[in-house]
Amino acid sequence: MSIEKTHESLDFIRAKVAEDLKAGKNDGRVVTRFPPEPNGFLHIGHAKSICLNFGIAQENDAPCHLRFDDTNPCKEEDKYVEAIQEDIKWLGFDWKDDLFYASDYFEKLYQYAVELIAKGKAYVDSLSPDEIRQYRGTLTEPGKESPHRGRSVEENLDLFTRMKNGEFEEGDCVLRAKIDMASPHIVMRDPALYRIIKRAEHHRTGDKWCIYPMYDFAHCLSDSIEGITHSLCTLEFANHRPLYDWILDALDVPCHPRQTEFARLNLNYTIMSKRKLLQLVEENHIQGWDDPRMPTISGLRRRGYTPEAIRHFCDKIGIAKVEGTVDVALLEHCLREDLNRRAQRVMAVLRPIKVVIENYPEGQVEEMDCINNPEDPGAGTRKVPFSRTLYIERDDFMEDPPKKFFRLAPGREVRLRYAYFIKCEEAIKNGQGEVVELRCTYDPETRGGNAPDGRKVKATLHWVPADGAVDAEVRLYDRLFTVENPLSGKGKEDFTAHINLHSMEALTSCKMEPSLADADPGNSYQFERLGYFCADKDSTAGHLIFNRAVSLRDQWAKIEKTQKK
Ligand code: ATP
Ligand code: MG
Repeated sequence: MSIEKTHESLDFIRAKVAEDLKAGKNDGRVVTRFPPEPNGFLHIGHAKSICLNFGIAQENDAPCHLRFDDTNPCKEEDKYVEAIQEDIKWLGFDWKDDLFYASDYFEKLYQYAVELIAKGKAYVDSLSPDEIRQYRGTLTEPGKESPHRGRSVEENLDLFTRMKNGEFEEGDCVLRAKIDMASPHIVMRDPALYRIIKRAEHHRTGDKWCIYPMYDFAHCLSDSIEGITHSLCTLEFANHRPLYDWILDALDVPCHPRQTEFARLNLNYTIMSKRKLLQLVEENHIQGWDDPRMPTISGLRRRGYTPEAIRHFCDKIGIAKVEGTVDVALLEHCLREDLNRRAQRVMAVLRPIKVVIENYPEGQVEEMDCINNPEDPGAGTRKVPFSRTLYIERDDFMEDPPKKFFRLAPGREVRLRYAYFIKCEEAIKNGQGEVVELRCTYDPETRGGNAPDGRKVKATLHWVPADGAVDAEVRLYDRLFTVENPLSGKGKEDFTAHINLHSMEALTSCKMEPSLADADPGNSYQFERLGYFCADKDSTAGHLIFNRAVSLRDQWAKIEKTQKK
């Protein structure tokens, strides 16, 4: 499979990789990795990192490892391991045989810790977690050395072995690097390397271990063990780079990968922290990780996003060194562009009102030719049956229309797409005075949508034949949050206070053209005049469900236009 690259110029990371190759660094090898922690589902921010790491590998015909960073047994689960693999594959990337787990290295990492102790560069500290925090100092004040800092190598080796053997309780002691309590970099003030975790089963190693390496210790060593050349991570790890390098310099390791940081993706009207996304799931604000309103890859997929749209989005936002917030309208724009090219057009009526064409012969059916995709002549045409009774959108009729309403109204003529001109003769009301049916006439001379006498109509409406119409449920989605930055709450205000309570509207009496009867879950369509819709995973032949992926109106195109001015 080939993935198109549209970089006009190389971003700074790709430029660095090219430069390293040219200089013959790493014996001419490039190896990248994507290191998710299996404590939640992947989101669109991860997609940026996936496209970067797998993209660079692909462009250089090099491997990209998938490594599960599973060093915290309290939060990690196999279901996340599986979901992450599925999402990466769906995005179109392949780690081939290079699937790794940090937990595979627990024994090696333990040996490295022993080596560090033997070199006098790590010690077991018996201060309580609170005391360690107090001793750490602040940005403006240096830290204070622990009274246990001077323990001998022998004592440290003994204590560390006993930590491993389960002789201590959680919080009794930690293994710390012996670096510099006065360092201006707080991460260098004797950071913890190993901690005791007793009450959790590790998803792969069970209860074999009761000490677990900290991220900073496990990550650089995992990179080195795997022969990674370029370790790419988000900006918040820039502070940790001195520690990454210190650990690799202190030990006898296979290689010393280079850590390079790039800006994480932030999107407005969205949150992107797995912890907070988990909160949305656990507190049932949405229906699960793959709820179509979630910024997760699985949510976007269920909503109707395509891998191509997401990859194109990642390409468009590029890679930078400073953080910013991307407008979610750009993501939507990328989906529209992709589906405009590929989605089959169909007619569906979301809020139907019945239309009876009084002068159309009872029992007559005509098969109207409809274009499947004007952007793709190869997509051909399909037939939609036209007969005396139809449905149109309730919104396309007004009994007493204001000036700029050009659609159907009493006495007015409009075009039915791919069919005829019809004129509204009468609106039938129920006892409550609501219009429940429209009585119309058609002009048989206008088949195909044009009048031989050249008269014009101001609107073209989509429609569905009553006979053969397929019933369906359609779910309309809006942003999950009402504010651009849901995390900007003041004081104790939780981000859930900004949840949009109207972010989903389910319409249950929609009518679809007959061709949709066999829509498979995951299929995407353009419902003419309405937007792009995707058959939901819970959709069945007896109960069709469609999700609106995105409307037709492109806000991004507007934003771009005003920016150019
Ligand atoms: P979260 O904050 O959502 O929990 P994380 O960084 O803890 O994310 P990991 O599973 O550790 O989640 O992330 C795997 C990789 O994805 C890391 O290299 C991380 O830098 C990258 N990543 C995470 N979030 C983003 C983002 N918003 N934009 C770009 N890359 C990201
Ligand atoms: Mg992380």
